[in-house]
Amino acid sequence: FDDKQADAFKKKLGIKIIKSLTHGCNEMGTIGYACSECEGSVHHLNTATKYMEILKLDKDEPVEGEEVGRIVISSNDEDLQIYRYEIGDLGRWIKEPCKCGRLTPRFELLGRFGDIFNFGPVYMNANKIKKILADKLDYHGPVQIILKYEEKSIMLVYVNKEVDKDKVYDALFFGCYDAFSLMVEQKLGELIIENKELSEFITSEHGNKIKSVVDMGIKGK
Ligand SMILES: [Zn+2]
Repeated sequence: FDDKQADAFKKKLGIKIIKSLTHGCNEMGTIGYACSECEGSVHHLNTATKYMEILKLDKDEPVEGEEVGRIVISSNDEDLQIYRYEIGDLGRWIKEPCKCGRLTPRFELLGRFGDIFNFGPVYMNANKIKKILADKLDYHGPVQIILKYEEKSIMLVYVNKEVDKDKVYDALFFGCYDAFSLMVEQKLGELIIENKELSEFITSEHGNKIKSVVDMGIKGK
């Protein structure tokens, strides 16, 4: 929910509603709920007031099967009518019926949309990269992915100085995505790890939050 979106919504709906909507999105309190059989970030959809769609990452069409997509909410609440509001989270439908016996659809939350990026033709997720470094190297420090293009795709990964950058390279090269490894192997893409001071990470314009992914675009453009 950025300021611009919030403003647009305030104009349309009034400030009071913004609060409840934000709460619902952050906590998933009104959009879904986890039963005792729901593991991880799996939720049942609250079908009483919310209509949820999962749309493809690159177009406004529903995903197929359990494909990962953007979560879009519509509401038929009496005092809160929303049509196709994109909450900024990624998710996928869970087709398998829940052991608890409830028949409402289930979905799994998979992180923020801004965490997904393209490296050449490969869709990658910054959260997955962070998870690999946490699981394999017990590294829980900051991670920043910087994308550049200089005759080939370049992915710079910034980590702090507590971790061995060669180990980070191996963890990502061997444990990330097969298509990614292939790209690097065939020199269509390059992976570079750099140890940085905290002050060298790129932060968002508003405040001091470290950006997960920074796309520098194509050199010279
Ligand atoms: Zn259940």
